[in-house]
Amino acid sequence: MLTLFKSNADRQARKVKVRRNPADRWAKTICGYCSTGCGIEVGVKDGRAVSVRGTKDHPVNQGKLCLKGIWEFEAINAPNRGTHPLMRDDPITPYRRVSWDAALTRTATEFRRIMGTYGRDALAVVSTGQIYTEEFYALGKLVRGGLGTNNYDGNTTLCMASAVSGYKRSFGSDGPPGCYDDFDATECLLAFGSNLVECHPVIYYRLKTALERRRFPVVVIDPRVTVFAQNADIHLAINPGTDLVLLNALAHVVLEERLANREYIENYTNGFDAFVETVTQYSPEYAEPITGIPASTIRNVARIYGRANAAMSIWTMGINQSVHGSDGVVAINNLALLTGNIGKPGGTSLSITGQCNAMGTREFSSCSGLPGYRQLENQEHRAEIAKYWGVDESFFPTKLGKTMTDIFPDIEAGKVKGLWLIATNPATSMPDTHRIAKSLSNLEFLVVQDVFENVDSAEYANVFLPAAMWAEKTGTFTNSERRVGLVRKAVEPPGEAKSDLEIFSAMAEKLEVGHLLPSPTSEVMFEELKTISKGRPCDYSGLSYDALEREGGIQWPAPTEEGSPRLYADGHFHTADRKARFIALEFHDINERPDDEYPFWLNTGRVIEHWHTRTKTGQIGNLNKFSPIPYVEMNSIDANQLGMTSLDSVRVISRRGEMTVIVQVTECVAPGMIFIPFHFAKGSNFMTLGLLDPYSRQPAYKQAAVKIEKFSVL
Ligand code: SF4
Repeated sequence: MLTLFKSNADRQARKVKVRRNPADRWAKTICGYCSTGCGIEVGVKDGRAVSVRGTKDHPVNQGKLCLKGIWEFEAINAPNRGTHPLMRDDPITPYRRVSWDAALTRTATEFRRIMGTYGRDALAVVSTGQIYTEEFYALGKLVRGGLGTNNYDGNTTLCMASAVSGYKRSFGSDGPPGCYDDFDATECLLAFGSNLVECHPVIYYRLKTALERRRFPVVVIDPRVTVFAQNADIHLAINPGTDLVLLNALAHVVLEERLANREYIENYTNGFDAFVETVTQYSPEYAEPITGIPASTIRNVARIYGRANAAMSIWTMGINQSVHGSDGVVAINNLALLTGNIGKPGGTSLSITGQCNAMGTREFSSCSGLPGYRQLENQEHRAEIAKYWGVDESFFPTKLGKTMTDIFPDIEAGKVKGLWLIATNPATSMPDTHRIAKSLSNLEFLVVQDVFENVDSAEYANVFLPAAMWAEKTGTFTNSERRVGLVRKAVEPPGEAKSDLEIFSAMAEKLEVGHLLPSPTSEVMFEELKTISKGRPCDYSGLSYDALEREGGIQWPAPTEEGSPRLYADGHFHTADRKARFIALEFHDINERPDDEYPFWLNTGRVIEHWHTRTKTGQIGNLNKFSPIPYVEMNSIDANQLGMTSLDSVRVISRRGEMTVIVQVTECVAPGMIFIPFHFAKGSNFMTLGLLDPYSRQPAYKQAAVKIEKFSVL
C-alpha cells in the first residue's frame, strides 16, 4: 500500500493549517454534510458562527474534519439564505415577500383543494436526508396521520434505497450491522463502488489509521482508478454494472475451495441449497468476460476473503445506483453469511450511507411505512401507531405508495397535481432532468422548503418557505454505523427562517390537525420516538440528549445508554424464523449499453469539495475555488483518437440530453469510459437515463451510453 507521507516529520510539515477565528463559545454538533457523523464544534462570536473545530476525542473522527466540515460555518452565513417566506401566483411572475401566515394559509388551502378535487394521493411530499430525526418523525406524523397521502418519500431513494432493500431481503430489517471499529479487527476489506478518500474522507482516515497499526489486504472494486483504488493492495477495474457476477463468482470459489463456514450456515441461515445451485454456474472463467476481471484474480481475492478470520465489505453508490443495486447488496450479504462474517468484530457488510441523516429518515420518517421500521402492510403495526397518535387506524393505507422516482412519472402523467419539496432539489438531482423540469412545470401547486432561496427547484415553485439550517436548531442525526448524535443549536436562523419542525407544526395547525404536533420542540418529539421505538430494531428508549452529548453519540439498538456497536452478534435476525436468508441471484443485463452511435459509458460521482447539488457548497468560496465548474475525465487513448486534449470544450451527448464541459485527460478512467461530477445544475443528469432497480426503485445513475463531440461555436 502507498503511504501518503514519508515520515512523521513530513506529515507535520505538510499539514494544512486553517486559521481559526476567535470565538466566545463553542456549541457541540455533528457535521451536517455526510453520513460519517463527525463531531464538530461551532465557534460563536457575537451571536454569529465564525469558526468550527473537530471535537477532540469524538468516537468517530477524533478531532479530524474534511474540507467540507472545516468550512461548514460559512454555509450558515452564506449568501442566498432564505430569510422570508416568498409567494407568487404562478412560476413565471417574480416572488414577493409575504408573512408566514399568508404563505402557510395558501399552502394549506392548495393542499386541501388538490386532495379534495383529485383524491388524497394527488398531493405528493418528498423530503430529504438532511433534517433531524425529530423533524422526520414529525413530518411522518403529519403526512401519515394528518394529510393521508400515500405519495410520500425522501430523496434517500436516490442514494440508499438499494442498501435498505438488500438488508431487508437478507436480514429481515434495515440497519447496517457493523461499525467503523471493525477496521481495527478485520483481516480483509472489500470495498465496492466507493471512493472513500473523496466521499467519506474521515472514514478513510479511520481505515488508514487501522492499517498503520496492522496491515491487512484492501481490495477496491471500481471501474475507475479512484484515489482509494490507487491506495489499495488490489484494484479490480470491473465493467460497469457487473458486480453481481463478480460476487457470485467469489462465492463460487469460496464453496469450491471449502472456505465456507458450515457451522454458521447450518445454525443461522436458510436458503443455502438454492444459493449453491445458482452460484455453481458462476465460475471465475464464466465471470471473466462479463466483469473484465481475470479468473485467476477472482480466485485470488476469494481466497484472501475466505481465509481471513474476519472479513468485511463496505460499499456506496457504485453498488446502490444500479439496476441490480438491491441484488448487489444481497450478494454482498450472501458472501458475508457464507463465511460467518456478520455480527463479529471485523466481520460485517457495512453500507456507507450518503447524507448526514439518511439513517434518521430510514428509522422514523414513515416514508417506507410507519416509524420504528414498522410496515403499513402489518395490521399490528398500523394499530400500534394509530393508537399512539390518536388517529383512526383505517386512515392509514395498507400498502406502501410511490417512491420519489415513481412520483415524478405520475406528475408527468397528470395524476399528481401538488408537491411539497423539503430540503431536496430534484431539478438537479434526478436523472434525465429535462423531463423533471417539464414535470415540475406541470404541477398545479409546488411548495419548496429549503435553507437557500436560490435552490434550482424553487424556479418552478409557487411558495418558498425559508428553513433554518443545521446548528440553527437542536436535534439528532444517525450516522452510517447507527450512532445517534446530538446537534445543539449554536446560532439563531436568519431573518424569519424557522426550523423544519416549527414549519411542520405550523402547517399542521393550518391543516386543522394541530393536535398531532402541539409542541414544536425537538425534546418532545425525541421522547415520542423513544417511546414508540422500545423493543423495535432501532430502539432509542435508553437514550437522552445529555448522554448523547456526553458520549459523542450512541449506537442503536439502545435500550440502555450502553448502545450496541454491532447487530446480529447472537446470530438472530429480524425474520420470522430468526434466520438470515441466502438468496439465489441470477444476473440479467437490462441496462443501456454503449453502441456504435453512443460508444462511451458515462459514470457520475462526487468530488471532495462539493456536496450533492451544491446548494450549500456552491455558496462557499473556499470550496468553490478548488472546484468551480464541471469537467469530463477521458482516457488519453480516446482523447487522441478524437483529437481532444485537456481544457478543450466538448459536448457530451446521450439520447436524453447533452452538456458542454471541459476535458481532463487522465488514465483514471479506462478507454471507452468517461466520468463527470454530478453536482452541477444543468449538468450530467441531462444525460443520465436512470432506469430503476426493481426492488428499491433507485436509479442507475452510473451507467448511461453517450457520445462526445468537440464543441464549436461556428
Ligand atoms: Fe463532515 Fe463527512 Fe467531512 Fe466528516 S467526513 S467533516 S461528516 S463531510
